[in-house]
Amino acid sequence: MITLKEALKLNKDELNKFKEELKAKIEARPELNAYIDVNNIGEGVPIAIKDNIQVNGWSVTSGSNILQGYIAPYNATVIEKMVDAGLSPFGRTNMDEFAMGSTTESSFYGKTQNPHNSEYVPGGSSGGSAAAVGAGLAIAALGSDTGGSIRQPAAFCGIVGMKPTYGRVSRYGLGAYASSLDQIGPMTQNVEDAAILYDIISGHDAKDSTSADMNDKVSDKLDANRKMTIAVLPKHIENASEDVKKAYQVAIDVLKAAGHTIVERELMDAKFDISAYYITATAEAATNLARYDGIRYGNRVTGTNLEDTFIKTRSNGFGDEVKRRILLGNFVLSSGYYEAYYVKAQKTRHMIKDQYNKIFEDVDLILSPIAPGIAPKFGELKNPMDMYLSDLYSISVNLAGLPALALPISKSDAGMPVGLQLIAKPYDEQTLFDGSLSLE
Ligand code: GLN
Repeated sequence: MITLKEALKLNKDELNKFKEELKAKIEARPELNAYIDVNNIGEGVPIAIKDNIQVNGWSVTSGSNILQGYIAPYNATVIEKMVDAGLSPFGRTNMDEFAMGSTTESSFYGKTQNPHNSEYVPGGSSGGSAAAVGAGLAIAALGSDTGGSIRQPAAFCGIVGMKPTYGRVSRYGLGAYASSLDQIGPMTQNVEDAAILYDIISGHDAKDSTSADMNDKVSDKLDANRKMTIAVLPKHIENASEDVKKAYQVAIDVLKAAGHTIVERELMDAKFDISAYYITATAEAATNLARYDGIRYGNRVTGTNLEDTFIKTRSNGFGDEVKRRILLGNFVLSSGYYEAYYVKAQKTRHMIKDQYNKIFEDVDLILSPIAPGIAPKFGELKNPMDMYLSDLYSISVNLAGLPALALPISKSDAGMPVGLQLIAKPYDEQTLFDGSLSLE
């Protein structure tokens, strides 16, 4: 597959021909189920779009039954920016319902296969975007990352996935899951393409009140020769599989050989991350998803009165995982439990942020696993708790609002990709991309 950098040099005729071939290739792989459908807007370079990002005139459903029939009435800011830069939204990719999940199995459209082996999950929630790029069915894609949903599927599918600093990329037109954690980011074939796509979609947006007033760009300043101090986490990686530990050692050796200084640091026990994340994310999700009542959006099941309509619409429209999280979120926000859970989670979130600030006083980047192992097989994560616990390496980055990039390092004995992530301080995407070049 040609890279984004190469595709940006094609003329209109070449692009049209390329898109026709691409559409045929996508249609030849229905079993993969990476795409929900393939539409195209504009004449630019085709980029696959996760089904929770609004493209004017397209169906947009966040992988849910409750949004069937809903048509986006405007473009998300990232889409406006893409079109201005000569890119064109090309196809909607599959995802876990409302981005809640780690395997893409909770989608209303059925599961997506891992392009490396159909018995394995592609990861989630941006599993469709990752599988599309990993299978050579997209030059690049957009994903969203609330607790790892760009980086983890990228690692499972052997591609590059980057979560920007919170506030770098506008969330206007992104279906909200947990508003204080969500970020849109690039999923690409290599680090340079990720930097190019990041530059295109990032920047200040008055329509998102949490948008940072910064517009600096990285891709024309990429420097693979910078020498950095990179922290490794000997205790943190103890919970990872042998495949991940081996990849971690490979990455350390590569970074040392590239002239970086390796230092050892520690993070607090990840059980605090999991608790703080699943309280914060479900509380925000319960609030955000209250708007899906069958009156304003999508699918309605008409009841005997207004309340009955709400109940029937939501009972019918949401899947089990989404319902579980709405219940959990409303529970932790309810009077009597608010102080015990929600407030405590916010305090823990500050502690998580502080520990990173301390490490970044004398360190440029942190090398970390992104998932405890390779992609699980379908059905391997038996219950929701197993799935939540498998997020132990991804979610503290979102709680602290940091930028991070996952990329492939090695292959497991079973031939599956093993990825790791680099984490940088807030707004230091330049260092993140520069350092990542050493690991390609
Ligand atoms: N697996 C995590 C969750 O289910 C992260 C999902 C995400 O980043 N959207 O909440």
